[in-house]
Amino acid sequence: MSVLVVGSIGLDTVKTPVAEHADLLGGSASYAAVSASFFSSVNLVGIVGEDFPKPHVDFFDSRKIDLCGLQIVPGKTFRWSGEYHTDLNTRSTRSIEFNVFEHFTPTLPANYSGTQYVLLANIAPSLQSHVLDQMTQPRFVIADTMDLWINIAKDDLLALLKRVDMLILNDGEARQLTGENSLIKAGKEIRKLGPKYVAIKKGEHGCLLFGENEFFSCGAFPLEDIHDPTGAGDTFAGGLAGYLASLNHTEVTFQTLRKAVVYGSVLASYNVEAFSLERMRSLTAADIEHRFNTLLAASHFGETH
Ligand code: AMP
Repeated sequence: MSVLVVGSIGLDTVKTPVAEHADLLGGSASYAAVSASFFSSVNLVGIVGEDFPKPHVDFFDSRKIDLCGLQIVPGKTFRWSGEYHTDLNTRSTRSIEFNVFEHFTPTLPANYSGTQYVLLANIAPSLQSHVLDQMTQPRFVIADTMDLWINIAKDDLLALLKRVDMLILNDGEARQLTGENSLIKAGKEIRKLGPKYVAIKKGEHGCLLFGENEFFSCGAFPLEDIHDPTGAGDTFAGGLAGYLASLNHTEVTFQTLRKAVVYGSVLASYNVEAFSLERMRSLTAADIEHRFNTLLAASHFGETH
């Protein structure tokens, strides 16, 4: 089974308190697609300019990501630059150049429309809906979003939420979307807007998963050194979606989603160990299993007397 991933593909300049690197492979779809590719095949939909370095395309290719939906058009690739503050939990956007991404219309190749699992990574909610308009009958649709869309395109986002099975967002965005300070109330409120499942990410404090009368809290893998948190959320979403697709169950249940959330957290924990997607290049299935089991053991209560 495949996952269709649509989102931004770009070149990032990232500054942390200890280092700065320019023109790195970035974008929500890049992180999500590579992460999902550890579990299942991926159909990537995105846009880049003619300046997009060929080695990045080759990297996607090496991960067996299908690139029929990658538009390479005249002009410059989307560029984003961000700076992390001392605790690496907060960041400021230094600059953003939409370039060819500004007029992106995600048009699906004919053979993508039947893809069963869909990850709508972070792009404008109207474009996310446009992708769904072209799909026949996906089995499970996951959407990611960001504060920008809650601010400037809330109606589009609310319309999208009625069409997705799961929404992934961070704690600040959940509060912003619902006006609720309690994340438990926020998770419940978001479910009322449409998605059957909601995952609220809390950065280094893990993630909360909400279903109908069901709740799961997943800790983040405890890391001593984080080099670049960029794309952690997209990597989480990609790992989660890829794992679900690898199971090919007729119906996604809360139980399978719990496991998918742990896999997503594991992938994200590896990704932040290096800038851009560098850690993904050497990551193995054995590494993923090892950290999955460690995370599971760390949250197991065992016998209580
Ligand atoms: P995250 O750290 O999960 O917020 O994702 C960071 C990635 O999002 C970077 O690689 C950026 O290239 C990309 N990005 C930043 N702003 C936007 C935007 N407005 N739309 C789509 N992608 C963006």
